[in-house]
Amino acid sequence: MDIINPANEKLIQSLPADTPSQVAAKIERLKKGQPDWAHRSLEERIAIIIQFGTLVKQEIETLALVLTSETGKPLEQARNEIRGAHNRIEHIQANAATWLARERVVTAGAVREEIVHEPLGVIANISAWNFPYNVGYNVFLYALLAGNAVAYKPSEYASLTGLKFRDLLIKAGVPANVFDCFIGGAAVGEMLLDADLDGYFFTGSYQTGKYIAQKVAAKMVPVQLELGGKDPLYIMDDVKDIRQAAINAAEGAFYNNGQSCCAVERIYVHENVYDAFVKAFVAEVQGYAMGDPLAEGTFIGPVTRKEQMEVLRDQVKDALEKGAVLHTGGRQRKTEGYFWEPTVLTQVSHQMKVMREESFGPIIGIQSVRNDEEAVALMKDTSYGLTAAVFSDSESRAVQVLEQLPTGTAYWNCCDRVSPNLPWTGRKNSGLGVTLSYLGIRAFTQPKAYHLKG
Ligand code: NAD
Repeated sequence: MDIINPANEKLIQSLPADTPSQVAAKIERLKKGQPDWAHRSLEERIAIIIQFGTLVKQEIETLALVLTSETGKPLEQARNEIRGAHNRIEHIQANAATWLARERVVTAGAVREEIVHEPLGVIANISAWNFPYNVGYNVFLYALLAGNAVAYKPSEYASLTGLKFRDLLIKAGVPANVFDCFIGGAAVGEMLLDADLDGYFFTGSYQTGKYIAQKVAAKMVPVQLELGGKDPLYIMDDVKDIRQAAINAAEGAFYNNGQSCCAVERIYVHENVYDAFVKAFVAEVQGYAMGDPLAEGTFIGPVTRKEQMEVLRDQVKDALEKGAVLHTGGRQRKTEGYFWEPTVLTQVSHQMKVMREESFGPIIGIQSVRNDEEAVALMKDTSYGLTAAVFSDSESRAVQVLEQLPTGTAYWNCCDRVSPNLPWTGRKNSGLGVTLSYLGIRAFTQPKAYHLKG
């Protein structure tokens, strides 16, 4: 498997993909290792995860370079991701003992009633490349914590980072037969789907997620899907600082090159502030430094996957043919690497792909709306339901809009944000199940109900 640097299209390294017999042997080892791991005390597992966090912090510069080289994420954003993901470990440290503790529900009377949160067993974590620390930690750290063994399949676009996770987890004290890394693309993912595992935790596209859910349905094990989005942001006409709103909205749309599941993917602006917003937004985007992701100060690097360039090209072409106006960008930079110029389109409509299909790149459509009702109707007009944001000076007016939207997350005056304290969950085609928060810890457990008499 060739690992290509998206900034210069050069080969970084070739890795051998796992063969079916290697996959089977690794799974066998995990099955043997899991019961002992589950019998260790929770304190011991927490201490090992904390130690993993310490090792990651110590190696942050090397790890950030690896991440930047294989995904093209600008170096400072790679460091930010690694630093930011650490909040999951702090969350575990502060809460795991409470949320995994035996619950004594009925303590008096003839029969005591208690709930024990047992691990699932060996789970598959099939993951994405765009935020491998964030989305990886959401699953494999919490799964390990709860006493599971983990078959981790990093995306083929973040395999070197995946191998680093394994090295550091083992160095921190996770037994080699409790966490393993499965190297390869869809074919290796398929091998995990065919295996007899106790849960499937997937982060990636709707298409793959739907396929996985259907394929493993008959196993009757938990399946969680963290999928894509077409997340809307609405700028109300009571926003006083339009320039700041434009800066924040642009960052939500273009951070990590727009390759975030909860990136702002479409913007609606009240007609009273539309012209001012578009002017400030375009000025902000035109100020972004695009170039070598290793150079300090670069905000827009290459897109990670070559194939995405075609998606972006097609969305721009489709929008322009249907009457959109291009303010900036709209094309691939004519150099080596997969550089797509940050693109702003206005006069867009829901007849255009750019307002309906996940772009997953540095491109945004901005549409004018007459009132909150029209904004709600447009925000709801999607098959996805991950997040939605409203910028307004009035919390109550914003919440009135947000509560009408079928999304797992609602933002007022912020966007493109994930907190370990809150459930991360998508509705409709954005997913199934929950990670993070106490609900996310419990996702890696199965309850056993004890009726204790005598
Ligand atoms: P993808 O669906 O192409 O791949 C995801 C993973 O699935 C990879 O590891 C891939 O090798 C594996 N895979 C592909 N085909 C498979 C098959 N047939 N069987 C088993 N495994 C298979 O997605 P991607 O390009 O890696 O990630 C981008 C998508 O992920 C976007 O849609 C994004 O919105 C979404 N995403 C969602 C979240 C979230 O939390 N909701 C977070 C990050 C990314």
